[in-house]
Amino acid sequence: MTLQETRLLTKRMNDRPADSWTMEAALATGAYETLRTALRMKPADVQEEVKTSGLRGRGGAGFPTGTKWSFLPAGLYPRYLVVNADEGEPSTFKDRELMERDPHQLIEGVAISAYAIESNTAFIYVRGEMAHAHDVLERALADARAQGFLGQNILGSGYDLDIVLHRGAGAYICGEETALLESLEGRRGMPRIRPPFPAIAGLYAKPTVVNNVETMATVPHIVGMGGAEYAKLGVNRSTGTRIFSLSGHVNRPGNYEVELGATFRDLIDDLGGGVTNGGTVKFFIPGGASSQWLVNEHLDVPLDMDEVGKLGVMLGSGAVMVFDQDTDPLAVAWRLVKFFAHESCGKCTPCREGTGWEEKILYRILHGQGRPSDLDLLLDIGDNISPGLNAPFSQTTICPLGPSSVSPIVSLNKYFRDDIIARCTPSLVTMLTGNGLAGNGLDGGLHR
Ligand code: SF4
Repeated sequence: MTLQETRLLTKRMNDRPADSWTMEAALATGAYETLRTALRMKPADVQEEVKTSGLRGRGGAGFPTGTKWSFLPAGLYPRYLVVNADEGEPSTFKDRELMERDPHQLIEGVAISAYAIESNTAFIYVRGEMAHAHDVLERALADARAQGFLGQNILGSGYDLDIVLHRGAGAYICGEETALLESLEGRRGMPRIRPPFPAIAGLYAKPTVVNNVETMATVPHIVGMGGAEYAKLGVNRSTGTRIFSLSGHVNRPGNYEVELGATFRDLIDDLGGGVTNGGTVKFFIPGGASSQWLVNEHLDVPLDMDEVGKLGVMLGSGAVMVFDQDTDPLAVAWRLVKFFAHESCGKCTPCREGTGWEEKILYRILHGQGRPSDLDLLLDIGDNISPGLNAPFSQTTICPLGPSSVSPIVSLNKYFRDDIIARCTPSLVTMLTGNGLAGNGLDGGLHR
């Protein structure tokens, strides 16, 4: 059967494509009705619905949202809700669309979630480059305040909430929750050493929950239909729907909301229209640049966080990048590692030094200057960042950025090892002339 989208989060933007972002369209399609319902419930009961739903964070880690909320220490106030809208994972673009085209769904989700965790101040930290999303949200927040959905005594319930909108400066690392908190406090965005975890000492050292945009936008649907009903969607412990950002060599790239449990093949062929020019999938990245890769034989793996986890990969941010039969995996790996090297904040040595080394070695192999020992050297560096080469799940670093840079290298070794080794063997011409990268400072050592 051909896979169809299951529209919960994307319903309003599908039904009212011309004005889904306006208060008028939002009210005409039921926005803020669930907030009214939630405010008549006890906060603990709202939390319970979210727990029952089995909702897992949509930002990358996939941690159960209700459980995360329950880590807030009882009786400690103030406490904050921070929305991570710093969507920066390469090829992920779902949160941007949610903010630009349905900001009231997000605001309603934030209001319900803040009420559930008994917070009176929430923050939305928007990625710096997303100027339009910021402006749309700014207008929507003003409209929500004017309608009495935010501010003092919301809808006569006695509950107060304001939402502070904050625009970041475009650093990828600020998508890491503790770096985001540092940035929000006005400092340079660098991850914090944990413990303490944000639930205990987060923003301004107060108990804090950090949740992703899509996670927040899902909450009104859970409370509206009931957690148990929501949990019937999806498969196993991967309940509900998710929005996948499909990109690369597909005929119809874009955001698709599907019930979890469909397969990568369904997503790529039925919704994405298959590989461009009638080609075939050589490999694909199932969950954003941080994930390890999968290849053609994995296309029938279900979109299930635990099932993909068994293969050592992750659904992560929901970004599926497809590469056809003509793609050079080495070029892809180099480009991804270059990104991580550029975005490393430099706070810890294995990442600060290691990502740069990885990038330079990949570069010289890519340009015909590889040495026979280069793949082993890459794996050794990777092992020092992510012991056991279990990237992105093990780390000697403060945050997962370092291990994320190892994912492309592990993937090359797993699926394209023979090809890489062949390219690490210098040709006679190269040995005789020493040409290619000589003169760029890349012909010897690891440093430019
Ligand atoms: Fe910074 Fe990299 Fe260390 Fe993360 S792993 S704290 S990005 S140096």
